Amino acid sequence: EGIRKCYYMGKQELPVLKGINLNIQKNEYVALMGPSGSGKSTLMNILGCLDSPTGGRYILNGQDVSKMPDDNLADVRNKEIGFVFQQFNLLPRLTALENVALPLVYAGVSRKQRTEMAMEVIKKVGLEDRSHHKPNELSGGQCQRVAIARALVNNPSLILADEPTGNLDTKTSIEIMQIFGEIQAAGNTVVLVTHEEDIANHAHRIVRLRDGLIESDRVKAVVDELAGL
Ligand code: ATP
Ligand code: MG
Repeated sequence: EGIRKCYYMGKQELPVLKGINLNIQKNEYVALMGPSGSGKSTLMNILGCLDSPTGGRYILNGQDVSKMPDDNLADVRNKEIGFVFQQFNLLPRLTALENVALPLVYAGVSRKQRTEMAMEVIKKVGLEDRSHHKPNELSGGQCQRVAIARALVNNPSLILADEPTGNLDTKTSIEIMQIFGEIQAAGNTVVLVTHEEDIANHAHRIVRLRDGLIESDRVKAVVDELAGL
């Protein structure tokens, strides 16, 4: 509700989000689009509890998190959010399985249970035969699957992905989008940023930002239905 975000550089104030009103329901599948610099990553970071808005309210699963102290925000993030980045952000010295299990280390889960839980999500993304390899022994698509598995391992309700296919070829991008489709079908809420219409069309709703405001917000199923009339 009325989300605003300013960055401050010395005394200079740069308004980036200028009053975003967006209501995303449980189990929705949303693509966020818009020109470079329009504020997509800034909004995703707020949705993912990586940053707080300058103004407005962010209600996540019924809880107002907009003015939460950083420590509490981190707790909410660890419980409720799975974040996938364009650059995968895997730790190079750890195997795929260890990367996926990492959030569980912070959550205090026992080693045996960590391995079981990590293996379960690694299977979900189809990487069981690569689980003991390190990131430099995996393809870009495989690295992104590891990152998705890591985002899923805590069983968060909201999966956020900022240009998850930005570094991948078309065929691999489609495979990654199929995984997001499965995640949504399994009951998660998925919000992803993309510059590509073909990728956005995998989602059910397309929100477009321009200059820090929502320019359009379309639920695709309705558009498709109308097109068929
Ligand atoms: P892209 O498609 O290129 O990823 P974006 O829509 O994700 O763009 P943002 O990263 O949200 O855009 O950036 C929006 C604006 O805010 C840009 O003008 C950017 O330079 C500025 N900005 C982003 N992060 C910061 C920061 N930490 N400090 C200062 N300015 C920032
Ligand atoms: Mg961005």
